[in-house]
Amino acid sequence: MKALVFAGPGSCQWEDVPEPTLEAPTDIVIRVDASTICGSDLHILKGDVSAVKPGTILGHEAVGTVTEVGDSVMTVAVGDRVLASCITSCGRCEQCKAARYGLCTGGGGWILGHLIDGVQAEYARIPFADTSVYRVPPALTDEQVLFLADILPTSFEVGVLNGHVKPGDSVAIVGAGPVGLAAVLTASLFTPSRIIVIDLDSARLARAIECGASDAIELTGEAARARVLELTDGLGVDVAIEAVGIPETFELCADIVRSGGRLANVGVHGKPVTLHLERLWIKGVTITTGLVDTSSTPRLMHLVSAGKLDPLVFVTHRFPLEQAEEAYAAFSAAAETGAFKVVLEGAKHQQLVPVGAAGGLEGDAS
Ligand code: NAD
Ligand code: ZN
Repeated sequence: MKALVFAGPGSCQWEDVPEPTLEAPTDIVIRVDASTICGSDLHILKGDVSAVKPGTILGHEAVGTVTEVGDSVMTVAVGDRVLASCITSCGRCEQCKAARYGLCTGGGGWILGHLIDGVQAEYARIPFADTSVYRVPPALTDEQVLFLADILPTSFEVGVLNGHVKPGDSVAIVGAGPVGLAAVLTASLFTPSRIIVIDLDSARLARAIECGASDAIELTGEAARARVLELTDGLGVDVAIEAVGIPETFELCADIVRSGGRLANVGVHGKPVTLHLERLWIKGVTITTGLVDTSSTPRLMHLVSAGKLDPLVFVTHRFPLEQAEEAYAAFSAAAETGAFKVVLEGAKHQQLVPVGAAGGLEGDAS
């Protein structure tokens, strides 16, 4: 089969690799029907994530059809359509028992396309299937559930739920990338009175307004802070969600959160950030951090089924899986291409099912 293989910093190739096989009785193998590229994949490609060794197949978000199941897998069967999520859960360790799957100590956590081969491939092995994949309701298309693999649960759990967004709250989201926009959608579920989005990219801000943000601020630093205070009677916001991952935007969040408010950090930071306790000590502010657990995925899937959450707003580009290199080029040049989320379509969507693991499966309409 073919897969997108990390070849070391700056390079990845769509190339021939051996088909995945079951390595443990808890594994399944899926045929990948849809996958997508994440900002973290670009970090890996740049060489920023040293845990990813050359030769690793990239990708941690997919919808696929089960082609093989291990002997001890109880809840999924060959032919089932499943969501393979960025987080794998052993289901047995203390963290998994507390639903902190992202912190799994039993061999799960973020492993796909990171510590083990990922899903930007024709077929993929998914460990701990019973506790890690989600069966997809027949009425939903692959694209409707694909973003439940990462950005929707990330924004919901690490941003909106950690930030305790409540009806009537004023919410500021700093960063209008896929995670920030997903935070606009999932914060809206709690009917805040205001959702202020701050970014430096006017097209992304326009998209945020289309998705339900009330105010867009195309400024940074002190000018952005002043505008947020103007919009909130000088008080600042109840909840500030950091969805960029740089010192400047974290400090902006700390400056715009009102006394008694909450700052939910979602961004992955590569550099130390200054925490201005000389200003914050008196404010009674709660700061949260975290990695997504994907414990909210079933709930979010119900919302998609009920038509209350529309993940299709993220999709700007579609490429056949075998054009993954072109898809990375478009996604990484987002300022020029306008790419937001790119769908990599498996053979099912091209009515050209490869013969491979389990002899191939028929395509279907979803
Ligand atoms: P992205 O890079 O696509 O989007 C970031 C946005 O920030 C862009 O729109 C950019 O224009 C904007 N930006 C850059 N500098 C800015 C500034 N000074 N002021 C305002 N806006 C600025 O990233 P994404 O995919 O949306 O992810 C957002 C963050 O969430 C990243 O740090 C990512 O690594 C992180 N993340 C965290 C988790 C988790 O579990 N905690 C999971 C997934 C992603
Ligand atoms: Zn991701």
